[in-house]
Amino acid sequence: MAASVSRADSPASPIVLPETVRDTLFAEAEKADAEECCGLLLGHSNGRIDEIIASTNMASNPAQRFEIAPELLIAAEKEMRRGGRYIIGYYHSHPTGEAIPSATDARLSAGDGRVWAIIAGRDLRLWRNGKDGDVHDRFTEIHYRSGKS
Ligand SMILES: [Zn+2]
Repeated sequence: MAASVSRADSPASPIVLPETVRDTLFAEAEKADAEECCGLLLGHSNGRIDEIIASTNMASNPAQRFEIAPELLIAAEKEMRRGGRYIIGYYHSHPTGEAIPSATDARLSAGDGRVWAIIAGRDLRLWRNGKDGDVHDRFTEIHYRSGKS
């Protein structure tokens, strides 16, 4: 058991996922059908996810893995450094599993503190990818708000 687990859902980092964005993620997962959809979660450094950028799944076996197109990520990183949209994290779907990070997700993750959205059917969960965590020592679930005002 980890001695100290950082609380991703602390008041300092509330994640807001508006219903419109969540619906878009559900639609992306549905469209990808038996394959995993994937892409970027963009928004504001205050934790509000405003939009997504869908990527082609570059993995050789997209039914079981996902790989975001590197050029998409590079372009988004450049934009963020110029003061543009903030990269909050990544999303992908689990066509047959649960909305919980797999051992493969943990192994391939950077542990960079970004948010991972995982979609499975009508379930969508957010996870903080760190150097420790409750799931595979890499992920801690984040409780998010829909941000309805
Ligand atoms: Zn996964």
